[in-house]
Amino acid sequence: MGIGQVIFILVFIGFTLLFIKNFRRILRNINLGRDVDRTNNSSERWKVMTRVALGQSKMVSRPIAGFLHLLIYVGFVIINIEVIEIIIDGIFGTHRVLSFLGPFYAFIIGAFEILAALVLIACVFFLTRRNIMRIPRFWSKEMQGWPKTDANLILVFEIVLMFAFLLMNASDSLLVAMNSVHYNVEFANPISQYFIPLIDNLPESSLIFVERICWWFHIIGILAFLNYLVISKHLHIILAFPNTYYSNIEADGKLANMDSVTNEVKKMLDPNIDPFAASDDAAPERFGAKDVQDLSWIQLMNAYSCTECGRCTSECPANQTGKLLSPRKIMMDVRDRLEEVGKGIDKDGETFNDNKSLLDSITKEELWACTSCNACVNACPINIDPLSIIIDLRRYLVMEESAAPMELNTIFTNIENNGAPWQFSMSDRLNWKDE
Ligand code: SF4
Ligand code: SF4
Repeated sequence: MGIGQVIFILVFIGFTLLFIKNFRRILRNINLGRDVDRTNNSSERWKVMTRVALGQSKMVSRPIAGFLHLLIYVGFVIINIEVIEIIIDGIFGTHRVLSFLGPFYAFIIGAFEILAALVLIACVFFLTRRNIMRIPRFWSKEMQGWPKTDANLILVFEIVLMFAFLLMNASDSLLVAMNSVHYNVEFANPISQYFIPLIDNLPESSLIFVERICWWFHIIGILAFLNYLVISKHLHIILAFPNTYYSNIEADGKLANMDSVTNEVKKMLDPNIDPFAASDDAAPERFGAKDVQDLSWIQLMNAYSCTECGRCTSECPANQTGKLLSPRKIMMDVRDRLEEVGKGIDKDGETFNDNKSLLDSITKEELWACTSCNACVNACPINIDPLSIIIDLRRYLVMEESAAPMELNTIFTNIENNGAPWQFSMSDRLNWKDE
């Protein structure tokens, strides 16, 4: 076994183990959430996942961006089929091992090149759109700093990766034409042929160097990207699938009631139950949500899945009318807090307590600006539900802190005293008929 193979195997195992370790940390963090059962109606769930995550059906509501995103997605997935060949070549010291497929191999490499060119065009378009065109959802406050860098980094990385792929093919085809040892596989090069003028003056040894550098860059780039996913919004490439599978398939806007409250109300309304009998039901540990552990594991997975595209925020009526609320920021705040709690648990164990909560980053002003219209959920390309988190945080404020806005407190008092939201006593309700 050559030194190149040994280095390849060590690099491959190292990056793969690092990814498994980091991904397990993400899963552990998601599992800090409350349990919730979303295993019902699996056939409908498979359909939703296929349509929304695989078919990207909600992306096309904005056709140009949707089409270009689809190009990057399909291109990236298909071109990386080539990674299988690179891995086999790297381990066994072969060169273009899949070339036994004959003319079909020549064809698919040509098809990969065309896809790579389309991915390049799409990435340049997205970079321009993010950085030159002043589209408001890419310039809002929550997108400054790391989120903006993260979005740009991945586009630049894709461009460099596609460029390396095409340059590798250009140098390889020149080496084939030179009858260089080991380089004997002919393939279609509809795009990389235009890269040949950049390198056709180089001697054979330099061409081999260029081809090898591009080859190593390609595989190390993919493995590094895999590990970059876990610290970036691009985790959605993986999580979009479970996220859509476990998304809410109830009627649009239907809110989940709290079981403990529902049971209590049912008992109050049931004439056969003694209202003074001791209850067997244990009181819930928390009404609503104060911190990430009070949210469900699906809400926490939502946070890790968020692509930070801002479609929810651009559709939000509260945001459109200048309120502080941005549903995208809600998702980003949940993710940041979850990361903070996860790191704290890694350091201090399960007893970690920093006396902070989600409500340190999400303000009451944001929460009470929500009209609960559900537009953010409808707009989200991967069925994330910021509204459910807003409702849970509000529940905590109302039920544990009694911190509802004044207008709502008046309504609550009226309901308590008069059995209705209005300020009239029950005994006066029918006065209107005498007027
Ligand atoms: S449900 Fe709330 S956060 Fe979502 S779009 Fe409507 S107002 Fe905005
Ligand atoms: S919640 Fe959905 S729509 Fe909103 S930023 Fe995240 S991925 Fe985009």
